[in-house]
This record gives sequence, structure tokens and C-alpha cells, in this order.
Amino acid sequence: MDSPYPPLIDGFGRVADDLRISVTDRCNLRCTYCMPAAGLPWLPRTDILTFEEIARVAGLLVGAGVKTIRLTGGEPLVRRDLVHLVEMLAALAPRPDLALTTNGVLLAEAAASLAAAGLDRVNVSLDSLRRERYEKITRRDELDRTLAGMEAAAAAGLTPVKVNMVVMRGTNDDELVDFARFARDEGYVVRFIEYMPLDADGRWTSDDVVAAEEMLETLAAAGVETEGFADESPEPATRYSIEGREKGTQAGEIGVIPSVTAPFCDRCNRIRLTAEGGFRTCLFALEEVDVRGPLRAGAGDDEILALLRKAVAGKWAGHKIGSPDFQRPRKSMSQIGG
Ligand code: SAM
Ligand code: SF4
Repeated sequence: MDSPYPPLIDGFGRVADDLRISVTDRCNLRCTYCMPAAGLPWLPRTDILTFEEIARVAGLLVGAGVKTIRLTGGEPLVRRDLVHLVEMLAALAPRPDLALTTNGVLLAEAAASLAAAGLDRVNVSLDSLRRERYEKITRRDELDRTLAGMEAAAAAGLTPVKVNMVVMRGTNDDELVDFARFARDEGYVVRFIEYMPLDADGRWTSDDVVAAEEMLETLAAAGVETEGFADESPEPATRYSIEGREKGTQAGEIGVIPSVTAPFCDRCNRIRLTAEGGFRTCLFALEEVDVRGPLRAGAGDDEILALLRKAVAGKWAGHKIGSPDFQRPRKSMSQIGG
């Protein structure tokens, strides 16, 4: 079935067809690059969109050409009955591709039912394979459960299981090679991500960022032969194949995402719905459009879609990290939905 409404196009001709939905601002970890040790003031439950409200907005956006929906948070698996939301989204027409970004801690218990409900893939965030370091970064001792979650996801067919590693200078940048080999040996796909200024503590400095170029140099210097390959997907990662990787599958592939040093803003196809119903056209946006208000005031579909369309039309060219007029958003990554 084709989309019944015209696509969402911004003033620079970019088509928005990738929607990220944050289902909660809460989390069971406290990653230093994202949340403070004490957590954040959580949103009152009544401020959070219900599954029906989320599915209604998602349905309108799918009708206007959105092809991929990724559930995120906070930690999406701490939201009760998430499986039910997956079922509701899988029933939309045209059916979107459904993915989940999770820290993996609760994934082992949930993977099979998520797959049965219609989830297609998962990204699991993991920043260290060393137990003590994992605990230092996340402030919780959950490495084993995260690894078990990844295995369960692969067994449930939520593949390729992608591993997101935020690379931070002096914190975990000596594990690049370990992660590349881990991906090859376990059949996962790894994405090395540059550290962005979205930590709630506001401690980020550009010195903490390991540029994607440097990551590739490190891999090459360690004898990990990487071979780039042509990439036609809209995904922002530049993808490489590690030596010894089984060809013909994505398993073992590595990719670098230079969100800071070479942002993909000029081909950005993303839009976001926050847990409390804010519509954002950029991770770094300084403003968001309130959708929850009109939803709860009884607005019709045309009215809501017009609001979303107007927001997309006004999307800016891109963020300006590194330039003197860069302004951090007031919200941190867990509050926006990464
Ligand atoms: N809790 C889930 C998780 O950790 O996967 C989903 C939400 S989390 C905010 C989404 C992604 O944002 C994770 O892959 C996380 O590593 C990434 N992230 C959080 N803070 C970041 C930062 N300051 N720079 C780069 N990536 C960040
Ligand atoms: Fe939680 Fe994900 Fe933020 Fe870590 S990165 S504190 S797991 S929301």
C-alpha cells in the first residue's frame, strides 16, 4: 500500500522518513555521558504519551511516508507492556520497519516476545567489554545481562544485532580493536559513535571526542585490516569490513558515525517524538513542537498532520557543533531520545 499523504519534505529538499519515538525518559543505567548519577527529575506519568497517542501520531507519519520507526528512550524496555506498542506499530499501514535501541539489560527476557510482536531489529548500546569499566561508565554492574540480551536478540532473529559504542578519549578508546573482533567473532555489527555534547552533566569537551578518522587509523595500526565498501543506504555510518569476516552477511561489519566531526545533516532523514509528545526535527534542535496538547484537546488528523508538516518544513540545515554559535539543547540525550 502506498502512503496516502504526500511525503514530509523540508526547505532543503530532504525527505523525513525515519522516525525515532522515545517511550520514556527513565532508565535503569546512569551512563556518565548521558545521565547524572542521581538520575534526572522524571516526567510525571500523565505527561507521557499513551500507546494510543503514540500510535496515532506514528500512523499519521507513516501515512506521510515514514518508513522506519525506532523505539528509544531513556531505556525503552523499562516501559511496561512495550510489546503491546510494538504490536500496534506493526499493524500500521504501510507497515514500517521497526527497530529498538536499548541498553540490553532487560533484553534477554523480552527478545522473543518483541520479535513475535513484530519488532525487526535491535541496536544494543555497549561501551566496554570489561566488567569494571562497564560498571564505571554505566554506574551499574550489568555487563553480563547486556551480553545475554544480545545473544537472546540474535536467537530471536532480531538481526543484525547492532552494537553502539560511544568512543571517549581516555575512557574506552583502547577497546576499538576488541570490539571489532568481538563483532566478527559473535556475528554482530558494531557502530563506533563519536561522543556528542548531550551529556546531562555538561562535562563534554571536544578533547573527549575521538574523531572517526582517528578510530580507523587506530584499527589499521593494530593490524585490523579494514576495507571500506560502497554504501547506498541512508544510514550515517561509513561501513567497513574486518578481515576474516564472513562475506555475504552483515555479521561482523563495523562502521563509524562521525556525528561531530563530519555530521550527516545534509542527508538527514530523521524526525523525533519525545516521551512527552514533543516533535523534534533535529537531535540538537533548540525548540520542539507540542503534539500532546493538540492530541488531548481533540485535534483532528488533518490538524495534527499540518502541525508536523510545518515543523518539518522549518527544519534547519544542521547543527553547528564546533562553531562559536553552537548552542547545546536544554535537554540531554535520555530526555530527547537518542
Ligand atoms: N537507553 C537506550 C540505550 O542506551 O541504548 C536508548 C536511549 S540512549 C539515549 C540512545 C543512544 O544514545 C545510545 O546508543 C547511547 O550510547 C547514545 N548516547 C547517549 N549519550 C550520548 C552522547 N553524549 N554522545 C553520543 N551518544 C550518546
Ligand atoms: Fe540510559 Fe541509554 Fe542514557 Fe545510558 S545512554 S543512561 S542506558 S538512556
